[in-house]
Amino acid sequence: MKLLHSLIYIISFLFCGIVSAQDNDSVLISTIYREALSNDWAYRTLEDLCKTTPHRLAGSEGVSKAISRMYQKIAPFADTVYLQSVMAKHWSRGKKEEAVVIIGKEKRSIAALALGGSVGTGKAGLKANVVEVHSFAELKQLGKTGIQGKMVFYNFAMDPMDMVPGRQYGKTVFQRFFGAEQAAYYGAVGTIVRSLTNIPDKNPHTGIMRYVDSIPKIPAIAISTLDADELSRDLKLNSSLEFFMRTGCEMLPDVPSYNLIAEIRGNEIPKEVITVGGHIDSWDVGEGAHDDGVGCVHSMEVLRLIHTLKIKPKRTIRMVLFLDEEMFQVGARRYAEWVKERNEKIYAAIESDSGGSLPIGFSCTADSAQYLEFQKLKSLFVPYGINRFRNDGGGVDIDFLADMHVPLLDMNPDPQRYFEYHHSANDIFEKVSFRDLQLGSATITAMIVMLDKHDSFK
Ligand SMILES: [Zn+2]
Repeated sequence: MKLLHSLIYIISFLFCGIVSAQDNDSVLISTIYREALSNDWAYRTLEDLCKTTPHRLAGSEGVSKAISRMYQKIAPFADTVYLQSVMAKHWSRGKKEEAVVIIGKEKRSIAALALGGSVGTGKAGLKANVVEVHSFAELKQLGKTGIQGKMVFYNFAMDPMDMVPGRQYGKTVFQRFFGAEQAAYYGAVGTIVRSLTNIPDKNPHTGIMRYVDSIPKIPAIAISTLDADELSRDLKLNSSLEFFMRTGCEMLPDVPSYNLIAEIRGNEIPKEVITVGGHIDSWDVGEGAHDDGVGCVHSMEVLRLIHTLKIKPKRTIRMVLFLDEEMFQVGARRYAEWVKERNEKIYAAIESDSGGSLPIGFSCTADSAQYLEFQKLKSLFVPYGINRFRNDGGGVDIDFLADMHVPLLDMNPDPQRYFEYHHSANDIFEKVSFRDLQLGSATITAMIVMLDKHDSFK
């Protein structure tokens, strides 16, 4: 009997211990959400970033102004703020693009955006017949006889039935990224790419493309989904129509620039670092609000919330606003090199670069024991609508840390609308919800605080 009593006592003691640990976590998380949801600092900071420095391509004046402004904004909440030097590659769009569909005497001007990294057409512009394809296999089938001297029109649309639009982006981006190089191999003189989005409008969406040195570099532009549909219809009626494009884009000399880094020093193990970041550069159309002004502001809010709430993290919390995610990732490469040079332990790296819609979960890449610990945190986040705890975490900037076996996480917002804004004039401050932005900041901060508190990745 006595033994039974003792057992009951021990079990209830343990149970109370568990309950109170969970209670403490819940209280801490609700304190973080309360501060984030009752403050407009993040929203005002995003407004400043978008409206004062809307065009932030690496190497541009816009991005250097943005770095200085965000430096001033974050300084009051950090123990240290510094600029990490990088040499930025500098691609410039130049004069506004011209694109004209010519059918006999009829001329129809349409909106176009040169792809990032593309060469220009020269002042005279470029006029040629057009051949439409949907895959590299079709291109190969047409061969030199079908393609020589023409413009190749890549018109492979994203499938709207896919509930993961990012997966469709992955399936269709080949035509934008490698399209010019592949078409030039068969003698094409230029490429026209359907925008990678499902939104039926007249806004073209740009993005990075690549050349290889052994194949001639030909100009590449994106046109909107509606214009792509119309061009396709026109081609079916009149395969000898012509297309005219004039672009003034060019690569300029490299420019000295920076990653912006700010830290709150750890209280117990300051040499271990949690990196949280987004990218400060953006495309030169729209305002880079969802991509990735939001990710920058989420990361800045992590420091503001920890500072304001006087949370004492065990480890150093380091915000990094990476330079040049969109084109050549010079910022992320430099940061990873620097971590290696210092032989620094990055306990975890978290990226926010999937837009500013309602947060619904996290993805995590880590070893199996660490992944299990990450999963254990889920019940704390479910009350806030954060239900998806999945594997396969990371992001373009933090993936450079992968070979150091750093656990990589990214916050997952609802993915349905992201490609409506992505890389286009649609990506403006007004398209970001105040509430979703606050929830994103709170969620990412709470995750960092819990991973640190529970030593989940030890
Ligand atoms: Zn981005």
